[in-house]
Amino acid sequence: MTTVRDVLIVGGGPAGLSAAARLAAAGLTVALVDEQPELGGQYYRRPSPAAPGDHRPEGGRLIARVRDLGVDCLTGHLVWGVDDDGRTLLATGPDGVPARLRGRHVIVATGAYERTYPFLGWQLPGVTTPGFAQHLAAADGTPVGERVLVAGSGPFLLPVACSLLDAGAQVVGVAEAGHPYRPSLRAAASLRHPARLRELAGYAARLARARVPLWQGRVVTRATGDDRVSSVTLAATADPARPVRTLDVDAVCVGYGFRPQPELARLLACEIRADAVTGDAEPVTDRFGRTSRPGVYVIGEAAGIGGVHLARARGLMAAAHILARENGSTPGEIARLAAEIRGLDRFTSLNEALYPSPARLQDVLSRALTGDTIVCRCEAVTAADVRNAVLERAGGDLNATKSWSRAGMGPCQGRFCGFAVAGIVRDASGGEPCGVPVFPARQPVRPVPVETLLALGEQAEGAAG
Ligand SMILES: Cc1cc2nc3c(=O)[nH]c(=O)nc-3n(C[C@H](O)[C@H](O)[C@H](O)COP(=O)(O)OP(=O)(O)OC[C@H]3O[C@@H](n4cnc5c(N)ncnc54)[C@H](O)[C@@H]3O)c2cc1C
Repeated sequence: MTTVRDVLIVGGGPAGLSAAARLAAAGLTVALVDEQPELGGQYYRRPSPAAPGDHRPEGGRLIARVRDLGVDCLTGHLVWGVDDDGRTLLATGPDGVPARLRGRHVIVATGAYERTYPFLGWQLPGVTTPGFAQHLAAADGTPVGERVLVAGSGPFLLPVACSLLDAGAQVVGVAEAGHPYRPSLRAAASLRHPARLRELAGYAARLARARVPLWQGRVVTRATGDDRVSSVTLAATADPARPVRTLDVDAVCVGYGFRPQPELARLLACEIRADAVTGDAEPVTDRFGRTSRPGVYVIGEAAGIGGVHLARARGLMAAAHILARENGSTPGEIARLAAEIRGLDRFTSLNEALYPSPARLQDVLSRALTGDTIVCRCEAVTAADVRNAVLERAGGDLNATKSWSRAGMGPCQGRFCGFAVAGIVRDASGGEPCGVPVFPARQPVRPVPVETLLALGEQAEGAAG
């Protein structure tokens, strides 16, 4: 059986929830699908059902409104594919039950991944991403370790370090790859965003009180340990071959910000391009979130990184555009949202100017990878394996490199290593961009139970016979 609604939204984070509430309030039938058991996405979802306190009350209010408006909330449903008609989404519900979902309008609001980059020893237990460490700390106050280094790049590192302090960890330092916190003309532009500046200053003050050192222009190049990480080496970003400091730790959280999840947009055959600033694969969208596929929108961080407020505004803008098409014009609403989005975009541009561009880091870090570094953890493929595949067979073709080296063929389908493999391919093939810098999306985009596929086949046979 296929669930059909006016609008089908995949992703119940700030973007998807905002769109759902607006569309349902205007009388459209809406299904909101999320793989997690609770709505809210990365920002509004309670870290665990037992998490103490009122977690982000504005999110709780938005979720309650969505439910009150009669939105069909299909939580626990993973969307993993697109049917042969190119339009019907295939999902797995709780207990592996298959679901087929269709909307006259489809909104993809699947959010972002943390951007990881390999280094020697990153497969050791105790090496995590900042998002995971923060989730663990928020869920039940558990720190990822007792002596923790937080490293990578972006404003997110500071709140993560503060969460770890609150959870009782000793944060041995925060290592930022760029130099965003030294006085500069660019940094002065942040005075135009006083609320954000206050928030950042609050985190910095908390770290200073706890005497946590903040190193700038430093990247993690090596983690060592027997059954768990026990020490980590920092090097200068400008010269990653030159170690500058080794620290004793029992956990290290490394992440270089976030990157959009492009898989579902790709499966829906939306045009994808490499973002000029970040180098990320992003769907091509207009200011309403419309893609190259009629009736398919991509919004929130699935369309580009910009934070929770921008995600909400993009959700409302896509909804306003759909309503304009369904019920006639909504010019006042669209103009107001456009102005809000312009303001939020300015903050995103400031962040992009302050922190090193991921594309630049990709260049620097790719060159620094020693041959024995495991790049694809699922398939245990090393940097040397990837370089050899490029030089001997695949040239600058990312997908051919995947075929020859097996990098990106494991259960994560390149979500963790894809960005790094693209960097190695570009570097090894003489600096030529390798087209859209992401592996093609294959369904199922995540592992699904075989029973689901069998049940889906039986449903199709039943419908045909
Ligand atoms: C790990 C992490 C931690 C973060 N922590 C902070 C923070 O502390 N402070 C802050 O200001 N910002 C934080 N952010 C950024 C913030 O969460 C985002 O700006 C905001 O949540 C973006 O909203 P969104 O609706 O676009 O996506 P999200 O909030 O990510 O929501 C996307 C939703 O889509 C669902 N989904 C994805 N794929 C599928 C699929 N195939 N099938 C079904 N459902 C799917 C996900 O389960 C998720 O609920 C964090 C982001 C991440 C990734």
